[in-house]
Amino acid sequence: MPSPAELTVDLSALAANFRTLEAVGGAPVHPVLKADSYGLGAVACAGRLMTEGARTFFVARASEGEALRTALGPEPAIYVLDGCAAGRAGRLRAARLRPVINTAVQLSDWREAGGGPCGLQVDTGMNRLGFRPEAAPEPFEGLELVLSHLACADDPAEPMNARQRDAFAAAAQRYPGAVRSFANSGGVFLGRGYAFDALRPGICLYGGGPEGRPDPRIRPVATLTAEVLQVRDVPAGETVGYSRTFTAGRPTRIATCAAGYADGVLRSYSPAGRAFVAGELRPIVGRVSMDACAVDVTGLDVAVGDRIELFGANRPIDDAASAAGTIAYELLSAITGRVPRVYRD
Ligand SMILES: *Cc1c(COP(=O)(O)O)cnc(C)c1O
Repeated sequence: MPSPAELTVDLSALAANFRTLEAVGGAPVHPVLKADSYGLGAVACAGRLMTEGARTFFVARASEGEALRTALGPEPAIYVLDGCAAGRAGRLRAARLRPVINTAVQLSDWREAGGGPCGLQVDTGMNRLGFRPEAAPEPFEGLELVLSHLACADDPAEPMNARQRDAFAAAAQRYPGAVRSFANSGGVFLGRGYAFDALRPGICLYGGGPEGRPDPRIRPVATLTAEVLQVRDVPAGETVGYSRTFTAGRPTRIATCAAGYADGVLRSYSPAGRAFVAGELRPIVGRVSMDACAVDVTGLDVAVGDRIELFGANRPIDDAASAAGTIAYELLSAITGRVPRVYRD
């Protein structure tokens, strides 16, 4: 029996998106599995992606890399985007993780700990992590991959994209033996000139569009559903939920559903949010509470035990995200540990 709130993960769709990204970009995909694969479960996603041929992964934190190393065994290369800050070099080496070196201090720490295969990040304008091109180190022993990250890849019209690409191409020339990785999901769709040697997508693997809206080339992967706990008829003029933010303008049938902010259904899912129920998209009304939200199901045939869909095939995650004033990345990584992940092939 399904749990009150449940996240279904379609691994075939994940695999299809992996193949689409390789075909569009024309280069191998090195999947980004950070934040537990954007909430979908990194071990299950990595396992399926390895079946598709992936052998190099990226995570953000050393702890994420350690968990994957234990689950996946010795074969895949796992890069840690944080690098090897503050005494973490020994830990990374113990799990055979590869830091993405972002600073001169990280580089000397890595060497002091014994070094080994690693990456290097050059910052080409985002001003987040990595060396400025003019401060990037000389080529060194163990350097296998050089990367940079686009700041505006979800906007193909943004002139900064080409400036970053050119800056990266110039910087990477200093490291002739290293694999060059530049494009995240959005970058894959900017054209082959952005692909370099290895693609580094996250969100498009997990079903989000490259430009923050649904894209027919990307299949939905994650579906969040919740059970209807109670159906009630609210007379006109009465209010629903905390702080009475919704007033029934007419006799209204309300389904109280088992999905609240403690499941990752953000409070901002209302007032503009919608849920798919009994074949229709219906408004989420009133405040989302910790364990429940209310959906207007007036005129629909909805009973206790039925399920609503917060996002999935019938409610694109990008649409759910924009209605909540956010992006698919945040909706997915907000899903809490209380919600079981159920995998389908
Ligand atoms: C998160 C991240 C990615 C993946 O980005 P998407 O937009 O999800 O494809 C790639 N590279 C770096 C450095 C990242 O931080």
